[in-house]
Amino acid sequence: MSKLVNEVKSTKQFLLINGEKVEAAKYAPLYSPYSGEEIAQIAMADKELTVRAIDAAYEARGAIAKMPAYQRAEILEKVVVLLKEKADEAAEIISRESAKPIVFAKAEVARTIETYKFAAEEAKRIYGETIPFDAAAGGVGRFGYTVREPIGVIGAITPFNFPMNLVAHKVGPAIAAGNTIVLKPASQTPLSALFIAEVFEEAGLPAGVLNVVTGPGGTVGEAIVEDDRVSMVTFTGSPSVGIGIRSKAGLKKTTLELGSNSALIIDKDIDIDQIIDRCVMGAFSNQGQVCISLQRVYAHEEVYAEFVTKFTEAAKKLKIGDPLDPETYISALIAKGEAERVLDWIEETKESNAKVAAGGKLQEGILEPTIITDADHALKVSCQEAFAPIVVVNKVSSVEEAIGLVNDSRFGLQAGIYTNNVKNALYASQELHVGGVIINDVPTYRVDQMPYGGVKESGTGREGIKYAVEEMTEMKLVVWNQS
Ligand code: NDP
Repeated sequence: MSKLVNEVKSTKQFLLINGEKVEAAKYAPLYSPYSGEEIAQIAMADKELTVRAIDAAYEARGAIAKMPAYQRAEILEKVVVLLKEKADEAAEIISRESAKPIVFAKAEVARTIETYKFAAEEAKRIYGETIPFDAAAGGVGRFGYTVREPIGVIGAITPFNFPMNLVAHKVGPAIAAGNTIVLKPASQTPLSALFIAEVFEEAGLPAGVLNVVTGPGGTVGEAIVEDDRVSMVTFTGSPSVGIGIRSKAGLKKTTLELGSNSALIIDKDIDIDQIIDRCVMGAFSNQGQVCISLQRVYAHEEVYAEFVTKFTEAAKKLKIGDPLDPETYISALIAKGEAERVLDWIEETKESNAKVAAGGKLQEGILEPTIITDADHALKVSCQEAFAPIVVVNKVSSVEEAIGLVNDSRFGLQAGIYTNNVKNALYASQELHVGGVIINDVPTYRVDQMPYGGVKESGTGREGIKYAVEEMTEMKLVVWNQS
């Protein structure tokens, strides 16, 4: 077993402030969501320690802002190389702290490597533009251009469900753009963040550029959001916390990547056998704890029965168990209370016309992959974010009807449509009110350079490295008077 995994198993984890490991007054045990065993002791920062991390980030901002782009790119490239070497360790850390099945944890590490690679590349192409001043009578004799400057200190607050790649989506572009960071990872998944901070240190990132502060969201998160020296808060997490952050952030820039109840439309001309594997991945990977997890399916009446039969058969075959077992597809939800919440939601469906076609129960504490058919739109499993391995499948008579149902949601992150009808595909791309329309795939599709973000309660701002760099820089105009 590797040194790092041993450390994870047995040692206290410190805060990382200004390149130093810093003690906190209090520590809290971190337990495996699957086995319940203690896996580490985590430092619980208070407001004072959070302010100390902000001090460090504020002091370091000049050094990273003035570092040439090629050097920032080199540090990010070095992270890519180191992470490739440590990929197995990294996957095991993710799996242990979040109960993500190891097969998906490995996929997350592979994506994290790509994310930092994109960040290294983006560091070299932060462009402004020249402005045709003589297009205005008052601009004749003037010459001007824009440059993009680092925004300064960025507060990054991340969720538990992709503890390494969603950190990368904030830390990668922040460093590419020449900013410093105070990172507050989710309390259940601090180890991935601390691990990556050590990788950055090994890659030569100057002290103070990346600071990691573990501890309660209400204390650490709020101290970050309230500090005037923090210029931007980039948050991924639940809508309720995101809305609270936005209301306290004042004039700080905010990027909010929030939740959804993502939907898929299946048109009548689709070969169902071809899409089952994608639907299984979309609905059940990482136990459905994915912001674009497939939660609602609207299948045309001509293919509905075949889809339900085949999707149900496939869901029943998924292996449930230990996240470190390479065969496991479904493991424990992030907390015991989560399984109980979803069981209550399933109970609610039983008081309606809905039917539980697959799953619906716990197996050794793990929620089975669950499919509910004929679920009324007002049920919690339909209209709220489930964040669990549960999906509703309903029958529709047309793509138009399905689009209306998809749009009848507080959320709007991504939506998918399977169709061979080009008119229906175009119509859906225009009418779906979401941040991304995925044609001929599930809404769960994401690669890390694409613009990603939502409308309505799914958030504001975009990630995807190039787009995050735009959010994390400020435009400055320079005008020369040549007369
Ligand atoms: P939470 O909103 O519970 O937590 C997210 C982060 O916010 C954690 O670090 C948490 O800390 C912190 N936090 C909690 N309270 C506050 C506060 N008052 N002020 C500042 N920060 C605070 O989300 P989860 O971790 O449970 O993640 C699941 C959610 O994330 C889902 O809704 C999911 O859809 C969304 N998500 C969205 C994505 C997107 O890109 N749109 C991607 C992935 C997830 P602590 O853990 O200590 O409470």
